[in-house]
Amino acid sequence: MKANKCVICNVRKGKRFCVKENEFICSRCCGLIRDPQLCPNDCPYLSSLTEKEEVGELPLYKVLMTTPKGSRSIVIAREKENGNLQFISVLVDEWKMGLKDCFGSHDISKKEFNKLVARLPSSYADADLNECKEIIKRGILIAETLDLRIPRELREFKHILGDLDKVEVTGSLYKCFECGKGDLSEDVVEQIKEVTLQDIAAGVCGSEGETMLYSVCDKCREEEEEE
Ligand SMILES: [Zn+2]
Ligand SMILES: [Zn+2]
Ligand SMILES: [Zn+2]
Repeated sequence: MKANKCVICNVRKGKRFCVKENEFICSRCCGLIRDPQLCPNDCPYLSSLTEKEEVGELPLYKVLMTTPKGSRSIVIAREKENGNLQFISVLVDEWKMGLKDCFGSHDISKKEFNKLVARLPSSYADADLNECKEIIKRGILIAETLDLRIPRELREFKHILGDLDKVEVTGSLYKCFECGKGDLSEDVVEQIKEVTLQDIAAGVCGSEGETMLYSVCDKCREEEEEE
């Protein structure tokens, strides 16, 4: 068989048949897009973890997150060997839909990227990568739990985040709206899920017409009552 170019990077030879893409891809791209949650079980490359390490992570260039709670926009950029950047931008609705939007680039000059950053609202601030990863992983979990569509761009750009496997998402599905750390009771979580699905069905999620919820953990509620 003629070795065609990898359908993802279009640079290296596509020597591996990827069950997920249904195309031939190169080993490097295979390592980058491989995901135990998205790849079919019959992918022969899924279990080879050694290769994943080989790919490694590119050095971080910028980690930005918007500051208001509830709806978080995150931008993570890494520097490539050619001096250009790759970045991923993710929107996570922490209080309702979870991860709901994603875009990015595999190759953008620093100049272009910085222009893009300069146009962002001032609510973006330097952020901690692990905190961002946690928010994103929880966002994916929320979207999956509600059976919402995960943006397909996430599959394409997810590798830029770095390893998400070691990021722990514990406790209740949604966290306290006040402190962002405390757990919410099962009943409250169920209520949020219900309202979210209703709002989505009504097409008002993220608009002015959406149902306003504000759920806090026991600790935050006590503190509020003391005041
Ligand atoms: Zn490739
Ligand atoms: Zn595969
Ligand atoms: Zn709290």
